[in-house]
Amino acid sequence: MSGPTVRFLGGVREIGGNKILIEDGPDRVLFDFGPSFSPRVEEFYRDYLQPRSTSKAKDLLEFDLLPRVPGLYSKEALSDSDLEYTEPQVHALFVSHAHADHAGYLELVDPSIPIHVGEGTRALLGAIETSTRMKYGTHPWKVFADRAPIRVGGIEVVPFPVDHSIPFAYGFLVRTGGGTLAYSGDFRHHGPRAADTHAFFDAVAHEGVDALLIEGTRAGPDPRRNLSEEGVRRGVDRVLADERGLAFACTYPRDLDRLATLYAGAVAADRELVVSVRTAHLLTQIAPRFPRGTLPIPGTSPGVRVYARKKLTTQLWERPYLDGALSATDVRADGARFLLSLELSHFAELIDLRPPKGSPFIHSMSEPFSEDDVDAHVMHNWLKHFGLTFHQMHASGHASGPELLEIIRATGAATVYPIHTIHPEALEAAGPSVRLPELGSTYPLAHRPGPRRGR
Ligand SMILES: [Zn+2]
Repeated sequence: MSGPTVRFLGGVREIGGNKILIEDGPDRVLFDFGPSFSPRVEEFYRDYLQPRSTSKAKDLLEFDLLPRVPGLYSKEALSDSDLEYTEPQVHALFVSHAHADHAGYLELVDPSIPIHVGEGTRALLGAIETSTRMKYGTHPWKVFADRAPIRVGGIEVVPFPVDHSIPFAYGFLVRTGGGTLAYSGDFRHHGPRAADTHAFFDAVAHEGVDALLIEGTRAGPDPRRNLSEEGVRRGVDRVLADERGLAFACTYPRDLDRLATLYAGAVAADRELVVSVRTAHLLTQIAPRFPRGTLPIPGTSPGVRVYARKKLTTQLWERPYLDGALSATDVRADGARFLLSLELSHFAELIDLRPPKGSPFIHSMSEPFSEDDVDAHVMHNWLKHFGLTFHQMHASGHASGPELLEIIRATGAATVYPIHTIHPEALEAAGPSVRLPELGSTYPLAHRPGPRRGR
């Protein structure tokens, strides 16, 4: 196939796991590299059953959960696997944002391949690496600026900030000698950075791209309720307004918009937001990149405190946050003063916190997709046991199905490939330009799209 091509090595009929390879003559650029959240990886690996840390690539290749791309993986990652190591043949890897399903496999990438990320994403990845078991490996990190083009051989990549449930998320415009492409990353336009998402798709429309690769997380039937970020704030205000005891909230640990919303709601209700040590670390590392006063910084901002769980050992990175941290006894003694952010994995703290019956629990995350969701079942068992009152309020990180159709039509892209969705066919309603990609297939960037098999 002459001319530039795009190849889908992940993110096809699955949520997450995007691995988009663009080739133009000798130049090869990869976009995103992480595991899918559902359903492919989950068919073999669950939280209790994970690839071995000594042979992660081998264990993933066994089930075709990693693409067999020569010149992408490190010698170390491939040792012990049946994929032979070759010198790097991928010249750059761009990461759209710091969520695990886009960045979680960076550790396996050859350490001489440059990884391009936004400045804030680099800081987020650093904070996550320090405070969790996630490792991203050693790489030449290249930090890009908003809308500043980057050249990789004959390919030009322009990163545009977009609104998503983690800050510093990007979509990309990709220009080659024989066509242009836009890759949306993950996005929404009902959050605090909605204007960024609009500006990106305006640029895509203005460019008149040959191909648009668009995420479709919420395409198709989705009965789950969704609010805007302001809607969540109003809900939090309502719950806290006439509450006289301890209040709880549960959210994604890296959804900083939500933490800012909970913080503002707590302060308005004369409460302090209490966060975990890990969240305190993330906030402290990332706060300098936000306008002053928008993020709660433990130890600096008024109205934010740290919760210290009982632990046998503490890590070095945790220590700065433990001075003046609240114990379960402190929180229990003066519940009406606090809004405690409590992750599901820390629910055992409830045994010490002993909240008064009827205390509110704000579930500020996605509702489970199915009724037999085990984690949701366990959560509700705990809430019932402690008599907590459940409130669902969440603003999704993704655009809704109808919004996606509207965006696709407005961009006027010649060919549209839905990815990062289990219902790509739902986006066919946007028009004949929508084409469902196949996993492992290669498509010419411009003119008469047609798949070529081969992985
Ligand atoms: Zn994401």
